[in-house]
Order: sequence, then C-alpha cells, then structure tokens
Amino acid sequence: MTAKILEGKYFAAQIKEKCKQDIEMLKTEHQLTPGLAVIIVGENPASKVYVANKHRSCEEIGIYSEVIELPASTSKQALLDKIEHLNCDPKIHGILVQLPLPEHIRAAETEILNAISPAKDVDGFHPVNVGKLAIGEEHLVPCTPYGCIKMLELADIPIAGKQAVVIGRSNIVGKPMFHLLLARHATVTVCHSRSKDLANITRQADILVAAVGKPHFVTVDMVKPGAVVIDVGINRIADKKLVGDVDFEQVKEVAGAITPVPGGVGLLTIAMLLHNTVKAACIIHQVNVKALE
Ligand code: NDP
Repeated sequence: MTAKILEGKYFAAQIKEKCKQDIEMLKTEHQLTPGLAVIIVGENPASKVYVANKHRSCEEIGIYSEVIELPASTSKQALLDKIEHLNCDPKIHGILVQLPLPEHIRAAETEILNAISPAKDVDGFHPVNVGKLAIGEEHLVPCTPYGCIKMLELADIPIAGKQAVVIGRSNIVGKPMFHLLLARHATVTVCHSRSKDLANITRQADILVAAVGKPHFVTVDMVKPGAVVIDVGINRIADKKLVGDVDFEQVKEVAGAITPVPGGVGLLTIAMLLHNTVKAACIIHQVNVKALE
C-alpha cells in the first residue's frame, strides 16, 4: 500500500479562502475588519521570517495587520504595557507575542502571555482558553493541533470511534491535540518520554500524531497498516534540510494517509491563525461564528 499524501497547501488554501469570504462578509455587512497585532521583541532572524509570513498572509486575505517591533532591551513592564494597550485597541482582535523572548525576560514568558486578553488570544495559550478546551467549549484553540484536526475533517477522515495515539504532551501541541481528538469521540492515548513499549502502543493507532521533535523517530514498525499518520515535527538536519518526526519514505509504504514535512501540518498553522483572528473578531462583535466553522 502507498499512503495518500495529505498536502498542507491544499487544505490551507481551502481554510484561507473561507476566511477571505468571511472577511468580505464582515466588511460589507458589519463594517468590521478583523485585525491582528504581532509583537516581536529583538532581532531573532527566524522569528522575523515567521512574523513577515504572518503579516503577508493577513494582507493577502484582508486582515488588518500590525507588526510591533520592540528592541531586545525591552523591559517586562514595557511589554506588559504594550499588551494592555492592544487589549483595549478596537482595531485589534488578535494579539500574538512571537516566541522566543530575549533571555532577560524569558522567565516571565507565562506572565506575559497571560496578560493577553483571552478574547484576543489567537494562539490559544491563555489558561482561560486552555480550560475551555479541556471542558469541551472550544474557543480559541492552539493553531497547530487545530490545523491537524481541520486537515482530518477536510480530508473526510473519520475520527469518532477511532483509536488515536499522540506522541508528545506539550502544552502547544500534544495536550490540545488530545482534547481535540477526545472531543471528536476518538479513544485517545498520549505518550511521552517515560512511556514504556511505545511501538506496542502506536501500533494500535488508527490515527497517529507525532509531536516529539526528533527526526525520523516514528519508524515503519511503529505504524499499523492503513493508519493515518500526522507528522507535526519540524527538525533541521544536515545541509539545513527539514524533516519531520516520521520516517516518511518507509512509513508511506504502510500508512493509509500521511502528512509530508515540509509541506504538511506547518502550512496549516498560519491558516488557523488567520481563522482564529476572524473568529475572535466575530466573537468580540457578537457576529454569528457558526458561519466560520
Ligand atoms: P516539546 O519539546 O515541547 O515536546 C516534545 C514531547 O515529546 C514531550 O512531551 C516529550 O516527552 C516527548 N518525547 C520526547 N522524547 C520522547 C520519546 N523518546 N518517546 C516518547 N515521547 C518523547 O515539543 P513541541 O510539542 O513544542 O513540538 C514538537 C515538534 O513539533 C517539534 O519538532 C516542533 O518543532 C514541531 N512544531 C511544529 C509546529 C508547526 O507549525 N508544524 C508548531 C509547533 C511545534 P516529555 O514530556 O516526557 O519530555
């Protein structure tokens, strides 16, 4: 068997097109333009590329976008003041602080992220949004796991009743992935670095999500024939080549469907950020968000 390749660009384009239509509706029927503010502190070159991509993606679909560049020497209080100003800015519906923060304020990362109003927390990291996800009231959901779920849904891959295994338990990917799959009625197992006999667990999976951060970690013997394999990992190996957590070449020969790296889940992450910004604008202005789902 050779797996169906789940190309991220195909699904990301569908999500972006839907956002674009929703934005046109919001502009004409509600005189509302969704707005995203991204704060970047310091000169991290990779962060600058990510922020520029987000800005460009916003402009492409009609989201108002502000990039706030602060010097590396910015104090914690100055950053908190900036966030508070954006929390009150009616043009802005989504606020994102690009990570990593410079060394001198990194210890305050949680306090800084928690200062973002839950209503504008388009990364879905605020404890209020984490709690809502855990009790099955999805509000603003972390973009990467949300993108994985949207991809499954758009590809018409059933989730209800399936055995799902998530490798990784981070707050950004693994844990929200668990809640999203559970809410869609999968039976979910979460594995981590202390899990014993991992291959035995992963071989039970109809849907296997790898979010480990180790190149080629998931090998062919860990995958049940016909399984859907979602590779969240982004790992840079020799010659700056990007690879996922899954041994793609081998696993694609047994899986039913698989995401490539690059070109898979990563492309969905920005699309879901746009989606979350539109959704936040709708919730803040009490426009029916059902139209967005
Ligand atoms: P973390 O480092 O925060 O978490 C990695 C998880 O993998 C941990 O829960 C860890 O377990 C687990 N793990 C490590 N070693 C093993 C092992 N031998 N067996 C089982 N589990 C193990 O990473 P993230 O969740 O932030 O990211 C995971 C990957 O996804 C990275 O490659 C990252 O670059 C990528 N990523 C991609 C995004 C995208 O847009 N596509 C967005 C976010 C992340 P433990 O908790 O016990 O330490």
